[in-house]
Amino acid sequence: MSKFADVIVDISHEKVDRPFEYRIPDCLLDEISVGSQVNIPFGKGNKLITGFVLAIKDKAVFDENKLKAIDSLVKNSTSADGEMISLAYFIKTNYGSTMNQALKTVLPVKKSANPIQEKFIYLKAEETVVKEALEKYGKDKRSVAKLRLLQEIENEKVLPYEIVRDKLNISAATLNSLAKEGLIQVDIKENLRDALDIKEKQEYTIQLNPEQKAVSEDIWSRYLNGDTRPSLIRGITGSGKTEVYIDIIDKVVKEGKQAIVLIPEIALTYQTVLRFYKKFGNRISVINSKLTPAQKHDQLEKAKQGQVDIIIGPRSALFSPFARLGVIIIDEEHEATYKNENVPRYISREVAIERARMCGGFVVLGSATPSVESYYKAKKGEYALYNLEHRATGATLPEVEIVDLRDELAKGNRSMISGKLDELIRDRLAKQEQIILFINRRGYSSFVSCRKCGEAMKCPHCDVSLKFHRNGKLMCHYCGYETPMVKECPNCGSKYIGTFGSGTQKAEEEINRLYPEAKTLRMDYDTTREKQGHEKILSAFANHEADILIGTQMIVKGHDFANVTLVGILAADLSLYSGDYSSAERTFQLLTQAAGRAGRGSKKGDVVIQTYSPDNYAVKLGAEQDYKGFYDYEMSYRRLLGYPPAMNLLGILFACENENYLTRKCNEINQVIERRIKEKELAGMRPMSIMKIGPSQAPIAKINDKYRKMIYLKAAKYNDLIDIKDIIEQYMEEHPDKQLSIMFDFSMMGSKED
Ligand code: ADP
Ligand code: ZN
Ligand code: ZN
Repeated sequence: MSKFADVIVDISHEKVDRPFEYRIPDCLLDEISVGSQVNIPFGKGNKLITGFVLAIKDKAVFDENKLKAIDSLVKNSTSADGEMISLAYFIKTNYGSTMNQALKTVLPVKKSANPIQEKFIYLKAEETVVKEALEKYGKDKRSVAKLRLLQEIENEKVLPYEIVRDKLNISAATLNSLAKEGLIQVDIKENLRDALDIKEKQEYTIQLNPEQKAVSEDIWSRYLNGDTRPSLIRGITGSGKTEVYIDIIDKVVKEGKQAIVLIPEIALTYQTVLRFYKKFGNRISVINSKLTPAQKHDQLEKAKQGQVDIIIGPRSALFSPFARLGVIIIDEEHEATYKNENVPRYISREVAIERARMCGGFVVLGSATPSVESYYKAKKGEYALYNLEHRATGATLPEVEIVDLRDELAKGNRSMISGKLDELIRDRLAKQEQIILFINRRGYSSFVSCRKCGEAMKCPHCDVSLKFHRNGKLMCHYCGYETPMVKECPNCGSKYIGTFGSGTQKAEEEINRLYPEAKTLRMDYDTTREKQGHEKILSAFANHEADILIGTQMIVKGHDFANVTLVGILAADLSLYSGDYSSAERTFQLLTQAAGRAGRGSKKGDVVIQTYSPDNYAVKLGAEQDYKGFYDYEMSYRRLLGYPPAMNLLGILFACENENYLTRKCNEINQVIERRIKEKELAGMRPMSIMKIGPSQAPIAKINDKYRKMIYLKAAKYNDLIDIKDIIEQYMEEHPDKQLSIMFDFSMMGSKED
């Protein structure tokens, strides 16, 4: 009986973004499964293109006699199982993308890499035969090479080819001749590449404290009892969340299941991985952006073959092809990096929950400062909530002091370091303790403008100002555009051009001027661009090669330096003015996380927060490290203004090179939306259950020469927003448009940082 397949073709185009039926030829029946990549004849010319098998069926919907047949299987393709295909479907329907874009997201590495081959020489013949041969060659002066190899391999039984060739100096001809005689055998072993280069062999010695133990055990017993809700662990900085994860994973692995651990790329350091390695050794592997494509492919292959039980990585590790996945852990779950910036703009937390649902596993989220969304769900009982209130090492939380920068100016202090912070820095330098100075980069890196007419130097392709770098160049952080520093104002011709704001470079210069005896390290966009840039700076600082580490938000993530007893936050409030509804949340998170870097060892820590808005609730409650207080305040504000999670928010971004055309198309689609809202209201829904804002200019009006506009929709029901998305997608399918690109953005958290 013949079989049929639904195949989705591999072209990113709405028109063909649905499955097509094909007949499976008998010769391929055994080889094709759901997820296989296949070549199919397509269109009038029957050109061969590739596609993915979505389903295999006994009966076709269309006339079986008219169906084309699958041509062949794509060699060396990574075939995904049904779970991944379903996950792609979930992503497509929830975040707005083509099925192909979704498939490419869950199956990121297509081409397989050639495995690394290792050659070995094995002893093959029986002992007596070998003895005879040894005797024979011992008497023959022309056979010294054969004798040398046989003597060696008689002892070792197996030898790597390199040793035989280079150390024993045996030629290929000699090997061939011995193999022909049946004395030895040359074999090739194929290996997958490693991602880890860990030499330290240390033992895992940590015993969970009672607080940690209670959390781990309760999560586990809920899982055994079939409570499928995700768990949210809110644990203060240093409370030992990682050890709780390790304990849970240990239980999962002992059941023969597998684990995925998501960590923000920036916090995915050697130190973090080492902690898992101590417990699980070679059963873990890592995915990060520093791996070569072949290395990355091999880690996924190891996961698929079950050579490892645990994959640690950023967002994309979510799609590790484990067959027996038991748990997905998302550390620092509030981080913006868990949202994909490109289409499909999926939210890792939600995709993780869906994947866990499909495989019968569970999800654990952890953070010192959970996203308002997750905490809201936890309080509603959608997630199970756990609290860790104490630092695991017994260290106390640091003393935090707020300094009002307006007072400093009034006292005549024009430097970026307040009197209080200066006093503490000098104290720590004298005691040889270390200091972290944190610069809130948002809106704070130096841009260049004319002192006379005020014109700021902008990127010609994007609607953002260029940033000044010490190499004398102006750079766009959105499209990478570079130009030498201008000599005169392009607007008025004035020669008085100045850099404004104080980026990390300027801060470092000033620190070096104020504390010439102190050694400094800087960690920012510039110093970490090279491979391992992060790792080098962090390990140099850990080895006390510098007294002061100066950096942007990337230094606040999860690093553990025992000798740091002072954290200075140079200007806390700059992230308050980024203009989106989550700016207070982001400021609170940054302050709490930054403060949490101080006093993690046995010595007590101090934190100084310098700010122009000492009365702002995010600054105040951040200083008090009062998460619950912040959450309550923030939620009342979100309820008042109808922001997530009180309401659901959908942003629709339109981009196009032609500004007039963009305006016209936006209005057109705006009407489609308005019609739909009317329809729904007529169908008996409460009026205003969907609220629309726009079309208006996007926060960044142009990127990469494309103009951008937005429509925002707020709704009490999430499904109403999905409905609008579907209507627009349908409209675009009926009115295809190559010029216009549309991106859907649910919940609008974590827009790209400047
Ligand atoms: P978090 O992720 O909650 O900020 P970590 O898991 O990084 O905290 O733990 C903070 C420090 O405390 C680490 O150095 C860790 O090794 C240590 N630690 C955690 N749990 C224990 C424990 N039960 N006993 C001893 N040390 C612990
Ligand atoms: Zn000017
Ligand atoms: Zn640009």
